[in-house]
Amino acid sequence: MIVAIDGPAGSGKSTVAVALARRLGFRYLDTGAMYRALTWLAVSHGMSLENGDELAQLARDHPVSFAGEGQVSISGEDVTGAIRESEIDRLVPIVARYPEVREVMRDRQRALGSAGDVVIEGRDIGTVVAPEAEVKVFLVADENERARRRSADRSGVTTETLAADLRLRDERDAVNTRPADDAVVLDTTELSIDEVVERIEALVEEHRS
Ligand code: C5P
Repeated sequence: MIVAIDGPAGSGKSTVAVALARRLGFRYLDTGAMYRALTWLAVSHGMSLENGDELAQLARDHPVSFAGEGQVSISGEDVTGAIRESEIDRLVPIVARYPEVREVMRDRQRALGSAGDVVIEGRDIGTVVAPEAEVKVFLVADENERARRRSADRSGVTTETLAADLRLRDERDAVNTRPADDAVVLDTTELSIDEVVERIEALVEEHRS
């Protein structure tokens, strides 16, 4: 079974998807980490981010790999921490908007998601990567709450700066971030992580029965 969890930055996707995968005994695939790792590699090669074909070729040449507890590697480098830096937050939507790049990522995401039970989180999982997913959830949350959540895992940056960064990223990502027609839209603003996980688990159970 595929469980697709989509939504904007700070909507709670990662925390929920990791907890859900653990509870269900499913694998977990973080598609945002793949775009982040590619962006990190392009920056570390000093590449301009203006050529989609070049970036797509870079993605083809250097598939992202995952290991253990959320460890992310590309081109032989462990980039688990580096891809969460603010500079990557800002640049990743530029890389992710190229259709050529998205095509490479989509194929790789489909391959990684194809074997058995998996929770896949991203922006376009229910619409593009896995439209056949049995359970689709689109998480939303109010902007202030999303900035507050981000500030919990980004030390040294004010909530106002984070709110502005989120707004900009939302605008840039908007074109590829939307709920599938058959997705359940869940507002997590007032919900705890456990409550969100339980609601999605109920959807999984509903599908199984
Ligand atoms: O989910 P996360 O914030 O880690 O995603 C980082 C970036 O990767 C997003 O801002 C977006 O630009 C891109 N992304 C995407 N499609 C996905 C997942 C992430 O375009 N499925």
